[in-house]
Amino acid sequence: MTRSISILGATGSIGASTLDLVRRNRDAWKVVALTANGNARELARLAAEFSAEIAVVADEGCLPELQAALAGSRIEVAGGKAALTAAATRQADITVAAIVGCAGLEPTMAAIEQGRTVALANKEALVSAGDVMMDAVKRHGTTLLPMDSEHNAIFQCLAGNSYDHVRSITLTASGGPFRDWSADQLATATPAQAVKHPNWDMGAKISVDSATMFNKGLELIEAHHLFPVGLERLRIIVHPQSIIHSMVEYRDGSTLAQLGPSDMRVPIASCLAWPQRMDTPCAPLDLAAIGELTFRAPDEQRFPATRLCREAAEAGGAAPAVLNAGNEVAVAAFLAGKLAFTRIAVEVGRLMDRFSPAAPASLGDVMAVDAEARALATQMLEPA
Ligand code: NDP
Repeated sequence: MTRSISILGATGSIGASTLDLVRRNRDAWKVVALTANGNARELARLAAEFSAEIAVVADEGCLPELQAALAGSRIEVAGGKAALTAAATRQADITVAAIVGCAGLEPTMAAIEQGRTVALANKEALVSAGDVMMDAVKRHGTTLLPMDSEHNAIFQCLAGNSYDHVRSITLTASGGPFRDWSADQLATATPAQAVKHPNWDMGAKISVDSATMFNKGLELIEAHHLFPVGLERLRIIVHPQSIIHSMVEYRDGSTLAQLGPSDMRVPIASCLAWPQRMDTPCAPLDLAAIGELTFRAPDEQRFPATRLCREAAEAGGAAPAVLNAGNEVAVAAFLAGKLAFTRIAVEVGRLMDRFSPAAPASLGDVMAVDAEARALATQMLEPA
């Protein structure tokens, strides 16, 4: 049976891994919408290869390049944010939300409002919209499948169990490329060093988030919404080998963990095939070769991001959206060489202290908080 799929953020790292699985089982899939921001050339290449119904660039200035590249094909092309959101509403059995940042929020919400299946990698969208997104999921009867490896692991460990029996949920963190660096070394970390993750091959933004540990903090907020067991039951542990992707402990003392290689095609396959299973080309785990799995507590002195994220989750309301916007602005400044690595968390903390708007009640409210927080964060980073 053929299933249809749309991929928002098709030209990114998650997009590439998803399309790799689709490519390996080409007859099983019909590709509906593929989207990118500005990488028209790669998007056109993918749209042609997969005979997509429509290809969309969010950056309208890149539309002529996309049109030229797909001229003579039957593939529809479009550009701009409204076109991106419209593409997300196209009928597809599963829509993969893999845009990076809050830029993915509107199209992800549009897909959720169709009431079908959305596989969520775009954690920033859920962090920012929180209850607004989860309410939409409930209201539209949408199946929201967590694609982030930790949340996918938790989802698998929870299968067939009740939240009432959960004692704790533990998110594992690799600790990133700087996990053993001293505070002095961290102050000198460069973008090139930050994007070189020891275990995972990912886009630039999430790689920096991994290095600061904001990634784990954002995941804590994400888990808080996806698995409502209460924040006090959510924990983080550093596990440098990235073999255990997360764990659920039950009241009887049993802990269920999901293990697998550090390859996003495993959680992606879990979402694409759910509730069945499918083959992936990933090598089976060789635990004897891995030898040992180690764990340690996170160090919030050197990596204050997880504390900031927990505080934002506790505060609720607009706080996670402000935190996320501040982090996106700070990460972009760091990648542009305009902000020291250790200033990322400092600037996010300063923004949180200065800006605490009312809790958003709608998507429009979340977008407004995000825009205002970004403007203020950008202004705060400008030289005095
Ligand atoms: P990438 O940077 O590799 O790709 C991002 C994708 O989003 C690209 O297709 C990009 O298009 C598109 N995009 C960027 N900005 C915009 C915008 N303003 N409007 C519309 N589209 C845009 O990111 P990743 O694939 O690494 O990550 C995607 C999401 O998945 C993130 O939220 C990340 O946290 C999450 N995630 C990623 C994991 C990974 O292993 N990479 C693991 C778990 C979660 P273009 O190419 O044109 O710029």
